[in-house]
Amino acid sequence: MKTMVSPEAMGAEKASSSSFLRFLNLYLFFFYFSGVTHVLLQMTDATIFIGFRQAVYMSFLWLVPVLLLPRHTKAITAIIGIVLWATSLLSLAYFCVYHQEFSQSVLYILFESNPAESSEYVAQYFKWWMPLVYIAHTFAAWFLWQRVQPLAFSWRGKLVACLLIIVPIHVLPFIEDRFISHQSWDRVIDHMQRRMEPAEPWQLVMGYFQYRRQLGNMQALLEKNSALPPLANLQDQYAGKPGTLVLVIGESSTRLHWGLYGYPRDTTPNLDKMKDQLSIFTRVVSPRASTIEVLEQALTFADRDNPDAVMTKPSIMNLMKQAGYKTFWITNQQTITKRNTMLAYFSQLADVQRYTNNTRYQNSREYDSNVFKPFESALADPAQRKFIVVHLLGTHMKYEYRYPPEFDYFKDRTGLPDWLDDNKAQVVNTYDNAVRYNDYVLATLMKTLQAKGERSMLTFMSDHGEDVYDTPPYEFVGRNEGNPTLPMFAIPMFVWTSDQWKQDNPQNLGFALNREYSTAYFEQTWSDLAGLHYSGFDPSKSLVNTAFVQRPTWVGDPTFRDGMREIQQPALSSTQLAGQPPRLAQ
Ligand SMILES: [Zn+2]
Repeated sequence: MKTMVSPEAMGAEKASSSSFLRFLNLYLFFFYFSGVTHVLLQMTDATIFIGFRQAVYMSFLWLVPVLLLPRHTKAITAIIGIVLWATSLLSLAYFCVYHQEFSQSVLYILFESNPAESSEYVAQYFKWWMPLVYIAHTFAAWFLWQRVQPLAFSWRGKLVACLLIIVPIHVLPFIEDRFISHQSWDRVIDHMQRRMEPAEPWQLVMGYFQYRRQLGNMQALLEKNSALPPLANLQDQYAGKPGTLVLVIGESSTRLHWGLYGYPRDTTPNLDKMKDQLSIFTRVVSPRASTIEVLEQALTFADRDNPDAVMTKPSIMNLMKQAGYKTFWITNQQTITKRNTMLAYFSQLADVQRYTNNTRYQNSREYDSNVFKPFESALADPAQRKFIVVHLLGTHMKYEYRYPPEFDYFKDRTGLPDWLDDNKAQVVNTYDNAVRYNDYVLATLMKTLQAKGERSMLTFMSDHGEDVYDTPPYEFVGRNEGNPTLPMFAIPMFVWTSDQWKQDNPQNLGFALNREYSTAYFEQTWSDLAGLHYSGFDPSKSLVNTAFVQRPTWVGDPTFRDGMREIQQPALSSTQLAGQPPRLAQ
């Protein structure tokens, strides 16, 4: 039996399915511009998912003007489309070259590096297929625009649709931030910007505002620094001698996962081979559990008793400049993000900067081999005396983003304790692979330096450690100053010197290797290593000085002294160096 359907009902069905299709076409048109790069970023596993998700949400907002003014749909979509197309082309071009997401750091590099350098980059990275990609992108946008049609919603329908779009995307997060979590306006606006930033055209617009703001903060710090008086009575033990002094700062590397320190897995094959050339310090800890907080103390005279010295006294970079060194800062860490303003400031204290990581999220794929070329060109600089800081991304989360596929070495449970289930074992594998890659990076830097055959010295220390299910009850990955454990602070540190360096400085550091030390006082050790002494130099805080005095190794926030704790290290035993990792709670 045939079912009779009235013509009206058929029309209504057709209308509703076609208005759904129209809605879909319109959304697709707006999403396309942000989506194209985000899909590529996800396909290449370049970064975490959050940017993609935000692009999906934010693309709904463009439907609001089209819903409210359906008669002008074509014109509105054309105007918005041109703006989105222009900024998306930039993001896409950036992806084609760097396989990463456009961010405010890119603007920083664009505006702060010299034009010759920028055009050099363009020439270096230009590939014949790139213009074809941009043309295809433009045609795809044109094709999607052709399919755009006005939405025939009733006024009530329009209102509901607009509310459904705006309320969850902007109103609810705003209420949550301002009225439930009682955040400051500054924070509320910052959160809103962060939510919008991954979508076009906000990548560029918000990126620009963020960049201007961070730049302002950084310049204020630089002005303060430039007003500081130089260190008094500076004496240089190596005055008049050429020399290249390198400080490599690692990231999130606990020495408890280094083969060089007795970890049972072969995580440091290259450094093991170079062992005889290294002075390896076995009991050094960091004073804090995050990069900037550590470097504020390690690179300046700030410590537990002098937390303000970060900005009231010169830094290591100032010291080296004052001693006549040309100073370089090469970093594979993010530059001008809000969190990293202090790092950008430190880098700007040097004469020359090379920034190799412009990703928006720390959790993005970016390898430390990025620093090799800038390191070589710094070494090639004709200056007689050079101080080069290399700041690595090391073994920072996400661990699997820290090494290329050929370094995927630890895959099974070999060498791992029983308390790790398979998921945890997989995390430890990625961490250990990152350590192994870091070993390759460090060895390469030293070999490059060695090949120059100059008077040179390289010191490595990790900024802080990391707990990777190392401490009972073996549930925690990362760092937490509120619940400090030894792996979070137990860092690797060593000094390498060239034969030419040893000629006029045959001193063996063997006497200092097992001293318990906090890098809160690192500037004093560095001064000694560089042969620089001045009013305010305190030999008792230098790890390599005969007048060294052992102090408690405090960890925590020095502006909240009552909350600080002393990190305890187990006594050194022969088994520890023979292959038993000291997996102990603090
Ligand atoms: Zn760090």
